[in-house]
Amino acid sequence: MTAVRLPSVDRLLRHPAAVPLIDRYGREALLKAFRELLDELRESFRQGQISEAEIEEAILAGRAGERLAARNQRQVRRVFNLTGTVLHTNLGRALLPEEAIEAMALAARYPLNLEFDLATGKRGDRDDLIAGLIRELTGAEAVTVVNNNAAAVLLALNSLGARKEGIISRGELIEIGGAFRIPDIMARANVKLVEVGTTNRTHAKDYEAAITERTGLLMRVHTSNYTVQGFTSSVATPELSTIARAHDVPLLEDLGSGSLVDLTRWGLPKEPTVQEALRDGADIVTFSGDKLLGGPQCGIIVGHKDLIARIKKNPLKRALRVDKITLAALEAVLALYRDPNRLGERLTSLRLLSRAQADIQAQVQRVMGALSRTLGERWQVSNESTLGMIGSGTQPVARLPSAALCMRPNSSKRLRGRALRLLEEALRQLPVPVIGRIDDDALWLDLRQLDDEAGFLEQLGVLSVEGWDV
Ligand SMILES: *Cc1c(COP(=O)(O)O)cnc(C)c1O
Repeated sequence: MTAVRLPSVDRLLRHPAAVPLIDRYGREALLKAFRELLDELRESFRQGQISEAEIEEAILAGRAGERLAARNQRQVRRVFNLTGTVLHTNLGRALLPEEAIEAMALAARYPLNLEFDLATGKRGDRDDLIAGLIRELTGAEAVTVVNNNAAAVLLALNSLGARKEGIISRGELIEIGGAFRIPDIMARANVKLVEVGTTNRTHAKDYEAAITERTGLLMRVHTSNYTVQGFTSSVATPELSTIARAHDVPLLEDLGSGSLVDLTRWGLPKEPTVQEALRDGADIVTFSGDKLLGGPQCGIIVGHKDLIARIKKNPLKRALRVDKITLAALEAVLALYRDPNRLGERLTSLRLLSRAQADIQAQVQRVMGALSRTLGERWQVSNESTLGMIGSGTQPVARLPSAALCMRPNSSKRLRGRALRLLEEALRQLPVPVIGRIDDDALWLDLRQLDDEAGFLEQLGVLSVEGWDV
């Protein structure tokens, strides 16, 4: 066996190829990477698997560079959401408008009047920064904001119904994705759940019969992520509010998505608005900031002054409070609602949700050629009509007419599944991962949300289709 001498770590660190790596990652990190590489080489040398070429210093520096690049890859990464689901919970829900992004940067970069009243110089309340705007837009008396809508529901339930009973229809005992179940949240909020009615039908008399002196609240939950069809009946907010009032207990309504505008104006399905819920008599309404509202993740609680005051006094409020960056984004997003005529262009999520199918089809047409050339003759690329979704459990049955790049492998039926999985993976491994969906023996990229067309096309150059003998 020929003795192979490995270079020393010091020597490697002095190599010209090491200089830019030290600059970028620091000496410590590079030293560690070299040590690891040398240890591995010694091991493969012992096992007789090493060739001399592999020990060249420049090559070692290159490998150390690759290792450090992989190690320093950000875990929070941008992706292309071409799934067809716009408010995709797993892909970050609503995209924020530029105004909100600027406001977030400002709040991150400088000190701000988060809890400081600039008029009096005294301590302020962070809710006051957005309360005026939310009251103006919803007609609510008072407002408080927490980390998300799940927190809003938990806090409202615990503040108004702890150690008492909360009455809710069996048709509304929902589970939202991510283990958020109304019965569990009620239990954690220390509210005793009293179910009334049946899965498909609940009547006013069911609520009436369940109300006792132990009742703390009536609750209504918007069954956002499923629909009950057929022989159904539920008690609408106005009637439920009359019952609640007659017995002097609050009516809490969880709207889930809760829009602030009538979405039918942009050709979208009707979703109950916060204003309507309040007008119909809900005493407290909770909704998400990052669903149809199109803002940052948060939970907004609006309603009667005295009830909101009780909610704000709950020590849990402190644990669930919203941060300054979210508040900055929320204010900027809400401000756009003051001009509903331009909301469709200015609110990113609404612009994407309301994009015309013809416009998306034209975009598919534009990028189809480049994709087809990249994939070669083993794939058929076509421009297909498709149906997208709003997402976040909002309007689960509604579909958004859209268009997609549809890629079908020409391979035999037996190998098709493998070809599709390989392509799906290759797209996911791109510098900006492309997320589509496999359906009906094809890979679909719904282009409704492809804003950065140039970036998408540029990446196709590095799409690795080698070794796909399928
Ligand atoms: C989405 C949803 C929630 C949870 O809201 P998050 O903002 O995701 O915490 C609660 N209730 C309903 C009805 C919902 O649709």
